[in-house]
Amino acid sequence: MKFHLQTVLVALGLGFKRNGHIFLAIVLGVILGNYINAHPEKISGLIPVLDIVGQAFIRIIQMVVIPLVCSAIVVGISSIGDSKQIGKFGKKMLLLYTIISLAAVSIGAALVLLVKPGVGIQEFITQSSATEIQAQVSNYLAAQHGQLGNILLEMIPQNPIESLAKGDMIPIIFFVLVFSLALSKIGEINRPIVSFFESVFAATMKVTDWIMILAAPGVFALTTVAVATFGLDIFSTISKFFAVLFMGCLIQFCVVYPLLLKCFSKVPVTTLYTAIIEALLVAFGTASSSATLPLTMACCEKRGISHKVCSFVLPLGATLNMDGTALFQTIAVLFLTQAYGITLEPIQIIQVMLLAIVASCTSAGIPGAGLITIALVLNGLGLSPQQLVEGFAFLFAIERLLDMIRTMANVASDAVVAAIIADNENEINYDLLNNPEQYKEII
Ligand code: ASP
Repeated sequence: MKFHLQTVLVALGLGFKRNGHIFLAIVLGVILGNYINAHPEKISGLIPVLDIVGQAFIRIIQMVVIPLVCSAIVVGISSIGDSKQIGKFGKKMLLLYTIISLAAVSIGAALVLLVKPGVGIQEFITQSSATEIQAQVSNYLAAQHGQLGNILLEMIPQNPIESLAKGDMIPIIFFVLVFSLALSKIGEINRPIVSFFESVFAATMKVTDWIMILAAPGVFALTTVAVATFGLDIFSTISKFFAVLFMGCLIQFCVVYPLLLKCFSKVPVTTLYTAIIEALLVAFGTASSSATLPLTMACCEKRGISHKVCSFVLPLGATLNMDGTALFQTIAVLFLTQAYGITLEPIQIIQVMLLAIVASCTSAGIPGAGLITIALVLNGLGLSPQQLVEGFAFLFAIERLLDMIRTMANVASDAVVAAIIADNENEINYDLLNNPEQYKEII
């Protein structure tokens, strides 16, 4: 098995050539954020301003997500037409998402058991408990929101218009999928609606191009605010935890995705990573796979993966496929049990891994969602309510940074699955994918 670190570095290098300004924005954000954290009295007035810039960037991308997802799925499914082919896409997609998630949780569990980042950390956890978060989490746990039955039921919208208004992605996708399948079955009479959504899709893609002009200032502002909030000193306390998560994501990028691409397709991994680098940088900045979706679609489509595949696989992936989140949840839960000296039986570790997959699927693609749904995984592991609350508060303190990293994995794996399916179904334009000079620039 090859560790493709070089591949990732080459892709980063090529990405840097095209998007040096976004890389620079991230580096400057880290430097400035750390400076503000260390000298809060000096330029702390800048933080509220940068916060507004960053939030404005996220909101403006989110603005196009719902029209984009609805139009992409309607156009995609009606262009696939044949329900057998839809079933084929769907089966492959589920299989690949399952393999990726299983790999993520297994790697997470193996790393925690090997490195033992939780041992000796209890003191820090107790100290870092922020009362406000404790109250929030206590309420959440008391409400027992994480019941599996409820979660499944909530995937079906009672009123699609309400789900649209609230921006609940899973019920929206459920409705649009059923609706699009129905459209594909009613023949020519579907033309007006399909044409309408074709126009909506083209227009939202255009808006995405415009929004991406703001990527560098947006990512700079978001990174500065995130680093100013936790500071780089936090690393000394969480260095092992952070290293385990980072290592887990790196293994996904350097081993799991390349291996899947090699076994199931002939898509060169460096080429794919280079094609989606803008999406990965924005995923890092925004910590939201939903907000990154317009860009993930733009990168994949403009660089050779067909609309048919992108429109079906990517919106579903951005909502359901969260391998980075599942990896984080497995690591975080096992870390907390280690910190509190609770020894888990092998069967309980497997339970944690499987529940992390379920919980990650139910996490929305927004910042911090994976931390809330972790309650589902923590259930029944022998932690006292007080420990649960302290554990949450500890994780919350370092959440943003962890989120930025795991969201990159969430987004990359969506693109990997889209590329494999497109390859298998002859839906890739390799001339375009293999020639970065021909890419229509997004940023
Ligand atoms: N922020 C992640 C995403 O959008 C979800 C999470 O793990 O919190 O993909």
